[in-house]
Parts: sequence; C-alpha cells; structure tokens
Amino acid sequence: MTAKTAQYSLNFHGCGSGGQLAVGSSAATLELNSQPQLLIDCGPGTVHSFQQRYQQLPEAIFISHCHLDHITDLEILTVRAKLSQSSPIKLFVPLSIISTLHQRLATYPELGSMAEGQHNFWQSFQLIPVTDEFYWRGCHYRLYPTRHHTPNSSFALHLPGRFFYSGDTRPIPEILHHKITGQERIFHDCGVEPNPSHTGLADLAEYQPEIRQRLVLYHYADQLAAEALKAAGYQVAEPDCAVLL
Ligand SMILES: [Zn+2]
Repeated sequence: MTAKTAQYSLNFHGCGSGGQLAVGSSAATLELNSQPQLLIDCGPGTVHSFQQRYQQLPEAIFISHCHLDHITDLEILTVRAKLSQSSPIKLFVPLSIISTLHQRLATYPELGSMAEGQHNFWQSFQLIPVTDEFYWRGCHYRLYPTRHHTPNSSFALHLPGRFFYSGDTRPIPEILHHKITGQERIFHDCGVEPNPSHTGLADLAEYQPEIRQRLVLYHYADQLAAEALKAAGYQVAEPDCAVLL
C-alpha cells in the first residue's frame, strides 16, 4: 500500500492591485492535495472564485490587512455562511487590526435587520486573534508586520519551508533575509513601477540573488504588467493557476 504524498500548492484567486481589478483582487488559497486549507484575504470576487473552484465556502481565512480590496467579501460571506448553516468560519486576524476590521465591516447601521434576517456580522465567524504565530491543520504559521502604511497594520504570512506571502508591502529585506529557511517560494507584492505603498520592479534590487530567484510576483495592474515582470526574468502568479510548493 502506498501512502499518498502531501502536495501543497498556492492557488491565486486574483493577482491584482487595488482599483485595477482586470486580474482580480489579490487573494490565494493554500491547498493540500488540491483541497483548500487556508484562504489568504477576501476582497471583491474572492468568494465567487473560491466557490467556483472548491464547491464550498472557506473553512479558514487569514486576513493580512484591512484595505477594502482584501476584506469586502467577508460581508457576503457572513450571509452565505448563515444561509448554508455551516460551522463558523475560522478567521485568523492579527491582533492590531481587529478594531479596524470591525469598524469597516461590522458597524453598518441596523446590521441585524438585513434582508436575510437578524444576523450579526461576527456570528458566521470564529475570530482567532493572532500575534506572532498560529497553528492550523498541522501547520505552524508565522506572521510579520510589513511596510504598508501605519506600522502594525499589514502582515506577511510565512509557513517555514513551504511559502512566504508578503501581503501588500514595500520591500522587506529585514524580514526576508533573516526568516527564510531557503526552501520557500516567496510570493511578493510587485508592480512595474514602485510607489509609496507597494514594491516595484526596481525595488527588487534590495534583495540578495538567492531571495530574488525564489520570488513569485503578484499584486500587479493587469496582464500587460504581468508580461513586463516576466520579461524582467521573474516568475509571476496568475489567477486560477496553482503554484506547487
Ligand atoms: Zn493594501
């Protein structure tokens, strides 16, 4: 009898930057043998993409930060979870962004009288506040505050030996040069041009060559930008294409 080997992959529901949704809002699911384990972020269109691919709602989500292109579909999800009477969805949220998340999604006036019947935003979720690390389904994840506006408002997710997901950020050599084991695929925010909130192609020179060769770039403007990133010699994540880990 042969045991099935564990094959992890990261499937991108979208790879786009905010406001430029031609390639979908950036969100990805860690899969084990093609089964969803953990969804990272939940912006516009993510729930639809998730249901199309897996025929189910997510069971666990990590939220990297509270810009709307990473969280808005949680409003749709709380209603869908209520209607499907599923178990509360585990929502791993960095401690320092919980009040912002609550203010942005859970304070709509008279939320309890929505068309689907009395329902509080959080009722469909099991909130799990996280700080430096957390466990889920046998995996030990780490998180690190990154460089995306106010300190401690945006976080990278790291599964040592498997993958590093930067979330929205400027370059973070102080993290990547010290925390990577050498085995991970590194999924990194990168558009063609740098800007004050995000990484651009020229910024990648801040990384050592052994980091650069592990990069898989996402959070770009459109297909044209993806082609430019590829032409510069980088691997690029694309919507609905699972990257093996
Ligand atoms: Zn952002």
